[in-house]
Amino acid sequence: MTAEPTAEPTAGPTNRPPVPMPGARTHEKLRNFPPPEEWDAHVEYDAKAHPRKVPHTYSLIPTICFNCESSCGLLAYVDHEDLSIRKFEGNPAHPGSRGRNCAKGPATINQVHDPERILHPLRRVGERGSGQFERVSWDEAVRDIAGRIRRAIVEDRRDEVMYHVGRPGEDGFAERVLQAWGVDGHNSHTNVCSSGGRSGYTHWMGYDRPSPDYANSRVMLLLSSHLETGHYFNPHAQRIMEAKQNGAKLVVLDLRLSNTASHADLWISPWPGSEAAIFLAVAAYLLRTRTIDVAFLRRWVNWDVYLERLHPDAPKDFEVFLEKLTEDYAKYTFEFAAQEAHVPVAQIEQLARIVAQAGNRLATHTWRSAAAGNLGGWQITRSLFFLNVLTGSVGTVGGTHPNGWDKFIPHFPEMPEPNDVWSEKLWPSEYPLTTNEMSILLPHFLKDGRGTLEVYFSRVYNPLWVNPDGFTWIDVLKDESRIGLHVALTPTWSESATFADYVLPMGHASERHDTMSFETHTSKWIAFRQPVTRVAMAKRGIPFQDTRDTNPGEVWEENEFWFELSWQIDPDGSLGIRQYFESKERPGEKMTQDEYYDILFARSVPGLPQAASDQGMTPLEYMRKYGVFEIAKDVYRLDERPLTAAELDGAVADEKGVLRKPVTLDTAPPLVGEAGAVGLEHEDGSRTAGWLSPSRKLELYSTTLADWGWPEQATPGYIESHVSARRIDRANDEFVLMPNFRLPTLIHTRSGNAKFLNEIANTHPLWFNKKDATTMGISTGDLVRVTTEIGHFVARAWATEAIRPGVVGMSHHMGRWTQDGHPGSRWVMGKVNLNRSEDGIWKLRYIEGVKPFTSEDPDSERIYWDDPGVHQNLAFPVQPDPVSGMHCWHQKVKIEKAHPGDQYGDVEVDVTKSREVYRRWLAMTRPGPGPDGQRRPEFMMRHVTPKRSAYRVAAATAGETRA
Ligand code: SF4
Repeated sequence: MTAEPTAEPTAGPTNRPPVPMPGARTHEKLRNFPPPEEWDAHVEYDAKAHPRKVPHTYSLIPTICFNCESSCGLLAYVDHEDLSIRKFEGNPAHPGSRGRNCAKGPATINQVHDPERILHPLRRVGERGSGQFERVSWDEAVRDIAGRIRRAIVEDRRDEVMYHVGRPGEDGFAERVLQAWGVDGHNSHTNVCSSGGRSGYTHWMGYDRPSPDYANSRVMLLLSSHLETGHYFNPHAQRIMEAKQNGAKLVVLDLRLSNTASHADLWISPWPGSEAAIFLAVAAYLLRTRTIDVAFLRRWVNWDVYLERLHPDAPKDFEVFLEKLTEDYAKYTFEFAAQEAHVPVAQIEQLARIVAQAGNRLATHTWRSAAAGNLGGWQITRSLFFLNVLTGSVGTVGGTHPNGWDKFIPHFPEMPEPNDVWSEKLWPSEYPLTTNEMSILLPHFLKDGRGTLEVYFSRVYNPLWVNPDGFTWIDVLKDESRIGLHVALTPTWSESATFADYVLPMGHASERHDTMSFETHTSKWIAFRQPVTRVAMAKRGIPFQDTRDTNPGEVWEENEFWFELSWQIDPDGSLGIRQYFESKERPGEKMTQDEYYDILFARSVPGLPQAASDQGMTPLEYMRKYGVFEIAKDVYRLDERPLTAAELDGAVADEKGVLRKPVTLDTAPPLVGEAGAVGLEHEDGSRTAGWLSPSRKLELYSTTLADWGWPEQATPGYIESHVSARRIDRANDEFVLMPNFRLPTLIHTRSGNAKFLNEIANTHPLWFNKKDATTMGISTGDLVRVTTEIGHFVARAWATEAIRPGVVGMSHHMGRWTQDGHPGSRWVMGKVNLNRSEDGIWKLRYIEGVKPFTSEDPDSERIYWDDPGVHQNLAFPVQPDPVSGMHCWHQKVKIEKAHPGDQYGDVEVDVTKSREVYRRWLAMTRPGPGPDGQRRPEFMMRHVTPKRSAYRVAAATAGETRA
């Protein structure tokens, strides 16, 4: 912050007014941020030189944070003297983060300057997993990888190339690359993350996530500690606090007294998995007291289908529907909910009364938490959103929007043809309704012999560490007959990277180009990540070829890597791939990133060309200067958007009023929504956009769930969790383990390269309610053995009142390890011995904790922490929900005092048992195909959608139109 006399800041597109500081002299104002007109040459004194005044001149170059998906704006301070990056602060022009960041944003500076980061391409020497690597040139690596991919494509093994992404950090770029290759190979981490949340929203409205308008709400109902500890952490937290200042009530359901819960007017800590019972009891209350939005329900809910399917003999009348609905949900009493949740009845009543006061300003949110913890977690989400629907708080001021209204993904004007391949390794027939790829089952599918992989990219992803059942991942990653080539694209060492054939260094937030957009509030914005040193060099006319010349070491930005790789897969253009990476200005040469973004911003971002021209800039120049553009804001009720003449041209309404245009099986569905469907014709004759569900309405009764084998779950309901209270034998010291929360200052793998963050959070206790601890004679600091279905781990107890009795919890970002002689990140990793017996018993034991080390960063010798944490995920079997595909993170565990010989951090697992658990959960599924021989409903999101013909098991004749 600079205390210089200054004019009002003006130029940032959404700059905030300065905040006068108490006691400031009247002719001076403290500025929140340097104004954009100073960003080319901003002077600050060197803080470390204090009390001397040593000025430094900086270019402030915008980029976006890469440390969670909120995509907050950052300003990199690039020193004019040597073009080094000195620090990162917030970008005031960014409408989502408004100049503010959490601790993880500024900690990007640690990642950039980390002495442990990977700076050069590496190739394995010795056995896979031996941890031995040699330097290799980018040319050699790219040639080898491209050759293998080309062979798979030419031999029509187009499901044998897989791109498995952890933190995407971009929208749409990788999908275009994969589409150009014609492979079905996009894999995500989503079923250890948010499939449960997404599934619940999808079956209401097609869109798979919510966007609450917190700032204008009357009541905020949150089922997630992640709001302040991970998911959209900073942008949401800002607006939650604003709403509270304006008098809104905050209710939080959380098993822990999380940061979010600590700010709540009402905190309910229910038994895990009982949340849906609570929400349905509130729904029943709203129905019986008629605190519902009748007009909204009549127009936008598929109540006619509800009656047809559940009450076929009843008259098709809206009032009858309301009566039937009220009767159907009457069984969800406050008493029932309280009994399931093990909380006082009065708490449920209080919640119901608060929700009833919201009118249509109820902002709700859930993402991971309960929806990711429990069998049937997707019904928790569906029940939560039921409250929005009943109160008409959908798309309203202060209500909850679908994310698609507040997010914008630009598509490059020339998109490749959709492919016609379907990978059963990603989208298996047992899970036709899975929200995302069945990523956690990949090693089991490979062990089952469902296929092999020629090339497997793990990209900013640490599969053996972040997923359950990590030892089975190791078994498969080591097996060259199942995975031909493993390429780890990563900025930092991870447990999985040591099992790769190539480790290729990728850039951090200030070393790469990406576009991103997220639903932080009622605004549609697009932000631009950029390699800031390269931008600074370009401004000074310093020549470079690509980002390898401007980033540390040989770190290459991914976009350029993908362009080069694609070019080498198809060097002569005969496969039809090269054309998508070829310059328009210089045919026969590769497109540069400047050209790519020049075209993208000029042709695919509405309003940007005009805004740029108003300031005498090209769209790319505008984005390089501000790093962000706001396309629209304060947009509400887009379901009521009248359809345009172009949309209506050729569209015909079906018997339910859905307006459709003819489409062939040769076309691909959009990212989400049905191909050809454009909107809804209402009974009053109006024709509006509606939602992206099959009926274009909000589906209280989901025909998808019913017609794909789950009729009893077609309406919002309560599924008893695999860890419900009646399945836990408390008298036998059984508990529910909640392993899926995080601390606000840690990321996942990449915390390991941020020393500030490790200094803030560096212990990994097992949260244990004080009463339970006393009963069991366990005190803070005691070692305990935690036994799961496939093995056990040893942790250190923390007796606290901040978690409910019967539940224990461990955060999910620690437990980092490397083997002796293997590379790793010494800020966080302990050294382990890793052993596997012939019959599949794996054992991991620390032989050394974290300790100081010598490097070019003197702080590495000042490390005072020693706890690498416990890699608990290794001891969890896969538990995929049979509908959503979500890994159900909560574990039934037995807790005991540590056994003689147990050591902190020990993990022991029998992978034979993990196979048995996999088969048991697989048997819970109801496999496809669904109606018309479809593998998956077309309206459900897929990152890379193939042609409609590929959705069909027995592909109908190409060119056939929709019946
Ligand atoms: S919330 Fe924090 S980690 Fe996430 S993008 Fe913003 S600054 Fe980065």
